[in-house]
Amino acid sequence: IFNSVPAEASVEDGRRPIPAVLGADLEVPVRGGRLVGYANLDYAASAPCLEPVNAAVAAALPAYSSVHRGAGYASQLTTTRYEQARHTVRAFVGARPDDAVIFARNTTDATNLLASCLPAGTTTVVFDTEHHASLLPWPHTVRLAPPAFPGEAVRAADEALAATDGPKLLVVTAASNVTGELWPIAALAHVAHRHGARILVDAAQLVPHRRLNLTALDLDYVVFSGHKLYAPFGAGALIGRRDWLAAGEPYLKGGGAVRSVDGEPEWHDDPEPRHEAGTPNVLGAIALAAACDALSATGWTALVREEERLIARLRSGLASIEGVRELSLWGPDHPRVGIASFTVDGHSAREVAEALSDDYGIGVRDGKFCAHPFVRHLLGRPERGGSDEAGDAGAGESRSGRGQEPGGGCQD
Ligand code: PLP
Repeated sequence: IFNSVPAEASVEDGRRPIPAVLGADLEVPVRGGRLVGYANLDYAASAPCLEPVNAAVAAALPAYSSVHRGAGYASQLTTTRYEQARHTVRAFVGARPDDAVIFARNTTDATNLLASCLPAGTTTVVFDTEHHASLLPWPHTVRLAPPAFPGEAVRAADEALAATDGPKLLVVTAASNVTGELWPIAALAHVAHRHGARILVDAAQLVPHRRLNLTALDLDYVVFSGHKLYAPFGAGALIGRRDWLAAGEPYLKGGGAVRSVDGEPEWHDDPEPRHEAGTPNVLGAIALAAACDALSATGWTALVREEERLIARLRSGLASIEGVRELSLWGPDHPRVGIASFTVDGHSAREVAEALSDDYGIGVRDGKFCAHPFVRHLLGRPERGGSDEAGDAGAGESRSGRGQEPGGGCQD
């Protein structure tokens, strides 16, 4: 729909309604009598479905039935496909053979699941640069200021963990959703383990772009989402050490998580059934696994090379525009995945995003990217005070007024 040229020979420049998409009131720009087209550059939020993912789901649809519950052919097939998906995800992140692989709804869900399983009295050490999914779920947190360079991240984690007693968890992103910058996760894992702590790596933005090997990096837990990995919405994963997960309160209580109910429920010890009560999102898991396979089959070297070509082009283009400033924590030369954020002097982020959409057919994300403290830091704004939600890089002035609509999506 978005890329089709209108049937009429000539259309006046301006805005043109596109054929009703579920009744939505959408318009695309027309220039020189042609649709400008639509380029979605918002993959860091949610990436469109790959063709092999689509095919894997279509193949599973004709014959599905209950999972882990039925003896019929379709049930067996579905259970096999679901467990095969788990196996694929395990291999995709290079997990240890005895690591748990738990399907969750998304990264946020997976992170909250781990938070619900922390041993009593666990202190979580987390940088203010994290996405809210990794920043907020923890019962007791030590928050560290954005480090000025990667070595300072390691030093700050070292000091904070040394000053902490009891069970400890260091939480860190592998690649920032705001700047794309890669974090020194191997060094941070080393430091964590030196202090008897564990490390959780938020790999939501890494796994669509780089190979991750949990075993080689000696990570304890990894979380990510299918919908950023070219699979549809609704499935993510938590992968990691079994003991905390086997001892933690079942995340959901219900059928599948329980071995028997005769008086007190007797919960499964295995983390997978223990935390996956109810009928799981089998098609989501199949889609997620198909995306893992498709990315691996593409080949990481080719993928990284192409991505680096594209991001270099984007960044040099941005640098050539007066008044445009790219945001980064560790400078322009620090390695990153294919993500760039920028400001434009004299314009709110909402204005810029609307202009890109309305005038050029380019879809981008504006606002604070569910990383309010980090974006405030990058913009040189004070950490506290004032009306945070609708201010600074967020809605600001909106030429259409869309930013002021309830649920207009500008807050995050
Ligand atoms: N962590 C990072 C780095 C992210 O970029 C995101 C999403 O933007 C999340 C966590 C949360 O992912 P989800 O919304 O799929 O739970």
